[in-house]
Amino acid sequence: MDYFINVILPIPLEKSFTYAITKAEADFLKPGIRVSVPFGKSKIYTALVIEIHTNAPLVYEAKEIHQILDEVPIVTTEQLKHWTWISNYYMCTLGEVMRAALPSAFILESETVISKNDEVRLNDEDLKDDEFIVYEALHHQSSLKIQDLMAILDKKNVLPVIKRLLEKNVISVQEEIYEKYKPKLVRYVKLGTNYSSEKSLQNLMEDLSRAPKQRDVVMTLFSVSAQTKKPVKVSDLSLESGASSSIIKTLIDKSILEEYHIQTDRVQYDGGDNEASKHLNEHQNKALSNISESFENQNITLLHGVTSSGKTEVYVKLIEAQLNVNKQVLYLLPEIALTTQLVERLQNYFGEKVAVFHSKYSSHERVEVWNNVLHNAPTAQVILGARSSVLLPFQNLGLIIVDEEHESSYKQFDPAPRYHARDTAIVLASIFNSKTLLGSATPSLESYYNAKQGKYGLVELNHRYNNVLMPDIELVDIKDKHKRKRMQGHFSDRLIEEMRETLKNNHQIILFQNRRGFSPIVECQTCGHSPQCPNCDVSLTFHQYRNQLRCHYCGYHTVMPKTCDACGSVELDSKGFGTEQVEQEAKLLFPDHNVARMDLDTTRGKYGYEKIITALEQGEIDILVGTQMLTKGLDFRNVKLVGIMNADNMLNFPDFRAHERSYQLMAQVSGRAGRTEERGKVLIQTYNPYHKILQQVSTNNYQQMFEEQLDERHIYKYPPVFRMIKITLKHKDYNRVNIGADWYARSLRTVFDAHVLGPEYPPVARIRNQYLKHILVKIPQKQSLSKTKEAIIKINNSFLSVKDFRAIRVILNVDNY
Ligand code: ADP
Ligand code: ZN
Ligand code: ZN
Repeated sequence: MDYFINVILPIPLEKSFTYAITKAEADFLKPGIRVSVPFGKSKIYTALVIEIHTNAPLVYEAKEIHQILDEVPIVTTEQLKHWTWISNYYMCTLGEVMRAALPSAFILESETVISKNDEVRLNDEDLKDDEFIVYEALHHQSSLKIQDLMAILDKKNVLPVIKRLLEKNVISVQEEIYEKYKPKLVRYVKLGTNYSSEKSLQNLMEDLSRAPKQRDVVMTLFSVSAQTKKPVKVSDLSLESGASSSIIKTLIDKSILEEYHIQTDRVQYDGGDNEASKHLNEHQNKALSNISESFENQNITLLHGVTSSGKTEVYVKLIEAQLNVNKQVLYLLPEIALTTQLVERLQNYFGEKVAVFHSKYSSHERVEVWNNVLHNAPTAQVILGARSSVLLPFQNLGLIIVDEEHESSYKQFDPAPRYHARDTAIVLASIFNSKTLLGSATPSLESYYNAKQGKYGLVELNHRYNNVLMPDIELVDIKDKHKRKRMQGHFSDRLIEEMRETLKNNHQIILFQNRRGFSPIVECQTCGHSPQCPNCDVSLTFHQYRNQLRCHYCGYHTVMPKTCDACGSVELDSKGFGTEQVEQEAKLLFPDHNVARMDLDTTRGKYGYEKIITALEQGEIDILVGTQMLTKGLDFRNVKLVGIMNADNMLNFPDFRAHERSYQLMAQVSGRAGRTEERGKVLIQTYNPYHKILQQVSTNNYQQMFEEQLDERHIYKYPPVFRMIKITLKHKDYNRVNIGADWYARSLRTVFDAHVLGPEYPPVARIRNQYLKHILVKIPQKQSLSKTKEAIIKINNSFLSVKDFRAIRVILNVDNY
């Protein structure tokens, strides 16, 4: 009898591919084991076995595999089930799912570039002959493609050698190398070296008798270090002495105090004793028991808990319960980089049981986490990760927590699979017969709707921890302020007043502006021309710091012109404003305070986020200006005032989710204010204070927002009432996209009739010199989703069989966000 395997190849093939194997191989192989296989004329790939059978393929002759790469499966049968669901649901190939799931070191192919690991010290005898040849070759050339090695070793079958070298950590596959972890630099102070003698100290205290506040700080430093016998943090000193950071800074400037930094490691656990979890208050306890009750007859439960209600502590109890029965827990977060605070908190409780999975980790680290999860290692019991961690090889998954479930970054935009991690997590949990808890202060309309429909359980937690009041939210009418000349730049008199008060009390301020750069658009006062990106249909944004115009879509940049390109006039003026301008104005208004900025531009570099978050925690920043990065679950004790500079540009964004998103953003950023005893204050500046979303934000009325928005989604047939598939056509030739899109939409209309929208140009119709056109298919609840997709695939296949259209890229996006 002849034996065959079906494999997934890491390329977008519609079907799995069949290879011939021997009887012995058939006995050995199992689904989830990798094999190296030839493909096409001369390519080799790592392929993953999904089925072993005896049916020869009908239309081609099966080639033989080169070699088996694993002793045991590295992908579980649960994963294969999960991948199949993802590929069906999100209309992509299994190869694409596999590429997203497996660390790149697992998928070797002819094109893979490998290089030598310099840190590794080797003895010659550590390597087998063929390994040594590769190692030698990499001495002469810093990187080589695997296909080059086929020539060097003079054989096709080179993947096993590569695999062994990877396991010995002698080589690495090339990819962007990211930071392994981001050390947190904490600021400490000690007494300046000039004051080590009794005598000099006495003199100092006498000198300082005229500066009692400074004297107090020095006294406090003595008493704190005497008590704790440990280095003293600037933040502790400021807290204990009640002195502002500027007083401490003065002492440092006068060399009375000396500052130094100690690097503390955030991601890697230092092995200290674990903290006991906190005692829940009555509201948290109630929520916890409601969740457990809900799980008795629901697989999915939504925890709707206001900001700072202590949801995390509730999750901690649920995690403990799972660990007690030896189950793994997956804790999903929107973006790991922004949530080091949470990572730290969970590590304090669960110590080395916590594994952090970062899509930006190097491949080697990802392989490590992968293997630990796969082997159900003690170090991988609580897996904390962003989107792609739903693709890990769980063994014994008991619970998934999706924190901040409303976050749109859970949806992968590009490339395929364009999956939503929340929905994908729910399916993963069901494969393990386990539960999913979704948590948010501002749930997505989708999840709240599902809860209201009884599809999910719903638990509410309406009290902030410690009964801290919800922040007091005030709407400031800047149209009126402008009229009455009460604005200084983009700051209303109310905002300035509140800022002054807050700073006087040594509290911190967050200013939110949902745009980076200085001012989004530069416009000529004479002719109205504004500089455009040459690659995209979008105006360039002025970045004052670099004196550049930049495109936020493709990265194009050029120096800011002195005169208008169109008419030569020097009267170039700016319209709208971004974070950079807010920062600059705040510095002018409050020259004695430290102003910092957190946006894509300031966090790009090494330790970008860390530096800013730590500086704010340590009280080195008084005013932090930022974009929506600020909304993500940060917990700053001392922030008492949040200013939203302009609510209108988010509300007016052309997207059916704009109002929902604006509510979520503003409610979340407001939630950063006053997370301890004192009530926080939020000022929202707007031209339209009667906008219903702003009214709902200011009264914290999620219910009303939900109902009104849901009504609109009913009327306009949008999710969650209708499902949606977005089809994007992309090509550098404008006409071809137009003709193709018309053809595509016409074909869709023959099936779906009025539920097809478009084709339409998106707001930015050309990106990186590619023209885009969208078509939307809306799917009523009663219509079968799988039949709908079948029909679309059929149309898609006929589309791609038209010669003129073949070069057009078609992107299918299910549940587009
Ligand atoms: P949420 O996730 O709902 O925004 P958090 O879990 O971050 O809220 O809690 C807000 C703050 O209250 C945190 O600093 C947390 O440490 C504290 N906190 C919450 N619950 C408790 C508790 N039961 N005991 C002590 N502190 C708590
Ligand atoms: Zn001009
Ligand atoms: Zn551009």
